[in-house]
Amino acid sequence: MDDTHQCYQLLRSLPSKFDSIVQNILWWTDDTFKYKDVLLELVAEETRIDFRDSLNLQRSQNEIFSIQKSRIKCHNCGKFGHFKKECRYGSTAASSGAPNRRYTECRTPSPKLH
Ligand SMILES: [Zn+2]
Repeated sequence: MDDTHQCYQLLRSLPSKFDSIVQNILWWTDDTFKYKDVLLELVAEETRIDFRDSLNLQRSQNEIFSIQKSRIKCHNCGKFGHFKKECRYGSTAASSGAPNRRYTECRTPSPKLH
């Protein structure tokens, strides 16, 4: 089979995450547009994509943490975004008594197997 034809077939079969590298490869000259080289480039690209994905995952986990932290309510001053132990306002002796517990236990019935 013709090498160039094989390359096109390969590039067409790729998932959409390879779109940008496919666009690059299509600009290659005929000298470099060989099945072997295309394959090598794709393997390299896949490694880059995996690496990028793992970086994105780390970043989004950090974002989730900072979002969660902004929802934390300080039991000392009543402001959001920090823990009581991180509070800059010192301890206030006159607090409004017991914390308002709105948590109610909700049990879903366990499914009956058999
Ligand atoms: Zn505080």
